Amino acid sequence: MRRGTAQTYHEQPMLAKSRGTATTSKRPPSKGTRNGSAPRAVAVLGATGTVGQRFIQLLESHPWFYVAEVLASDQSAGKTYAEALGGRWKLSTRIPERVAGLKVKGPGEKLRSAILFSSLDASVAGELEESYARQGHLVSSNSRNHRLDPWVPLVIPEVNRDHIELLDKQSYNGGGILTNPNCAAIVLVMALAPLHRAFGVESVIVTTFQATSGAGYPGVPSLDILGNVIPFIAGEEPKMETETNKILGRMGSRGIESAGIAVSAQCHRVPVLDGHLEAVSVKLKRKASLKALIAALREFRPLDRLPLPSAPAEPLHVRDEDDRPQPRLDVDRASGMGVTVGRIRPCAVLDWKFDALGHNTIRGAAGAAILNAELLAHAGRV
Ligand code: NAP
Repeated sequence: MRRGTAQTYHEQPMLAKSRGTATTSKRPPSKGTRNGSAPRAVAVLGATGTVGQRFIQLLESHPWFYVAEVLASDQSAGKTYAEALGGRWKLSTRIPERVAGLKVKGPGEKLRSAILFSSLDASVAGELEESYARQGHLVSSNSRNHRLDPWVPLVIPEVNRDHIELLDKQSYNGGGILTNPNCAAIVLVMALAPLHRAFGVESVIVTTFQATSGAGYPGVPSLDILGNVIPFIAGEEPKMETETNKILGRMGSRGIESAGIAVSAQCHRVPVLDGHLEAVSVKLKRKASLKALIAALREFRPLDRLPLPSAPAEPLHVRDEDDRPQPRLDVDRASGMGVTVGRIRPCAVLDWKFDALGHNTIRGAAGAAILNAELLAHAGRV
């Protein structure tokens, strides 16, 4: 797939386009389109996991970056990437051939790529990411460990790209850590951002229906999730409540000032493969008509002038049907980088209610981290 502008990324679903077509070249790509410069080597930490595999898939034909190094636990280290996976590759595209043959590095091993994408298990991400940042690497992380650190940007480029300035306050010897939100929080915040900008959001009640792939691999046992709904995801509700306020907060002299929005979240795991669906009720600070509300969502195009390859042309898509969005039908919109909103209607308790849906391992994880790195590369920060 040709990429390089928001429009080309949006043109057709990447998964359908690349299904079954492995990359045959073992050499790094020879040309890129970022100011005419060659693609840059990047490393994926936690490359064998659910999110790590998405990184490998999404970076396969990326115009600015190519995967030069992969890292996972000691049990994978020393094997080729394909051997380490040993049948755990769970995507419908094939493992890119050039990456399949890369030798997996172990935790702490020296890396030469300037940009590291991290989808490490949270039990090890904290220390390892810091250690690599201290060695001068820029770590774009999915893991929860540093998201709420006062000097670590928690960024959605469409919403709060000014927060990347926090990187200047980090003391990592030239390196740094940048994070993207929790996979459920990002769907909520993408939908709230234009409403907050136009009318101010006062309070939010959100109930989530979260895909099983959000729990990693092997994740929730099949006998627990099939034909069932589990009304608990450890640590998820506080993440939605606090991350929302950091992302929608303002840069202050002592870090981010919370947006002060009262958020009440109830999170559920459902037997859906990919895609977090969320039922949201919202109270606004200023009155809004239904027409104004829909216009704010539809006109949300904050990255129009930034040529970031992974940025969807239409980050929010509003559907009019009574029964959309649905994970199976809408999750791959804009190659998994778009959030779909529907069922916008008055709420008898707060002001308005609606449903929002996003792809948890693309917009909610690997795609989000790649878009953040593109933002830094475009800003000349890496
Ligand atoms: P996962 O499938 O369990 O993968 C975990 C990865 O971490 C594997 O590559 C594993 O390598 C590696 N790892 C485990 N212990 C390690 C160690 N001691 N040293 C080095 N590497 C180690 O998990 P996941 O779902 O991809 O999630 C990864 C991270 O992203 C987590 O922090 C998670 O909270 C976050 N996240 C996940 C999602 C989602 O939708 N799944 C969304 C947003 C954020 P081995 O294969 O060698 O064990």
